[in-house]
Amino acid sequence: MRLLDPPLMPEDTAARMDWFVRVRWLAAVGVIAFAAVGRSVLQLKFAITPFLVIGVSIALYNTVFFFVGRTSGLREKWGDRFAFLQVGMDILTLTLLMYFGGGIENPFISFYLFHTIIAAILLPWRKVALQVLFASVCIATLATAEFIDIVPHRRIGGLLTVDFYASWKFVAVSVFAIITTLWVAAVLASSVAYGMHEREKQLEQSNKALAEQDRTKSRYVLRVAHDLAEPAGMITSCLKVVTQGLTGPIPDKAMHMVERAQYKSEYLGQLVRDLLSLSRIKAARKIPKTEVDLPEIINQVVEEQQPRIVEKSLVLEKHLPPSLPPVYGNADAIHELFGNLVANAVKYTFVDGRVELSASNTDDVVRVKIQDNGIGIPEEALPNIFEEFYRADNVRTEAMDGTGLGLSIVKQIVDAHGGTISVESRQGKGTAFSLSLPVAVKSDDQS
Ligand code: ADP
Repeated sequence: MRLLDPPLMPEDTAARMDWFVRVRWLAAVGVIAFAAVGRSVLQLKFAITPFLVIGVSIALYNTVFFFVGRTSGLREKWGDRFAFLQVGMDILTLTLLMYFGGGIENPFISFYLFHTIIAAILLPWRKVALQVLFASVCIATLATAEFIDIVPHRRIGGLLTVDFYASWKFVAVSVFAIITTLWVAAVLASSVAYGMHEREKQLEQSNKALAEQDRTKSRYVLRVAHDLAEPAGMITSCLKVVTQGLTGPIPDKAMHMVERAQYKSEYLGQLVRDLLSLSRIKAARKIPKTEVDLPEIINQVVEEQQPRIVEKSLVLEKHLPPSLPPVYGNADAIHELFGNLVANAVKYTFVDGRVELSASNTDDVVRVKIQDNGIGIPEEALPNIFEEFYRADNVRTEAMDGTGLGLSIVKQIVDAHGGTISVESRQGKGTAFSLSLPVAVKSDDQS
């Protein structure tokens, strides 16, 4: 039941509280349903109104918790106290239900166990102990008050034939049994929760350390790529001078060798540039962001690809609504992102093919789709295309050049913007990349 799946990371307080609120909706319905079934199906005799009122009250106070939980700032400000208040309210409500449903004789008295376990998951040990103490006092007070007739006993007609609530032995043994059960459960659940909590903390620390190590590695690659960029560029320029005949004629065989060397040095240059981009974005903890006009960037990117588009006689269509809001991002990174996607669409589409760029937006995100009718991506390659250095088999057999880093760069940039990217493709039919980037919100608190 997805709705009630407990959060995988109980460390995440917000997720835990949401889960707690979801479970309580079920409890509100459950109280009303149990009362209705008890009356109509089991033919038990009891006043149903208190149960209906309590069921509705649970839903009402849960609505308050729901909204408070969603009000940013409040939940953080209250911290544990918010969970403490909720568990306390639930124990009080359960005690009322017990009172209207036969007191100590009510079989649902074991439900205090749920509250104990929930408290152990949500709260530190001292507060769990306070809640269990509160539950114990509630149970003992109710049973004693009914026994000595301070409050009237509300029996459930048709359930028991004997008035157990009036037997001091029954009351003493039952109260003792339930209270010890609660304390034992609290200790066990708290120690399990504590162990989990500790392991999660360790995991979080290890993740942070790994991320830092990854950044260190990226900084190292960045330095190496940076040092390689200049000689790689220099080699290409020198070889170009030779292949363009500016150094005078050279024998055909030698020319062939120099052309091959130039081709490989251009590939080397591209590889170094891609490594630079990838390691730069991976090494950064945060990238500076401002309002970015997407159509302007897309138009620039298309302009840069124009020679290749003309060379391959491609039809390039753009559908960019003029009302598109600016996105919140880094203009250079977004330029690179679209540069890679459009370059791929152009590269992997045959002569006379078509490339289409379209955009739309909601209040929160701008969506862009880059679609081509090129060679497509084999189905089995789709899960891997964002991995570093991965290239699908079909592009390699078609001898199309590439470093296999373009889409990894794209993915890193999308992630750094809190965006999403997905791909749909059919081999031989074409490919569509859909991505979303957050709309720039007009406020001063963006960082
Ligand atoms: P490359 O330098 O090989 O283009 P990328 O990381 O940009 O590296 O892309 C990874 C792989 O994804 C490519 O090698 C290719 O197999 C596939 N791919 C990416 N874009 C397209 C596209 N528009 N059409 C077909 N295949 C694509």
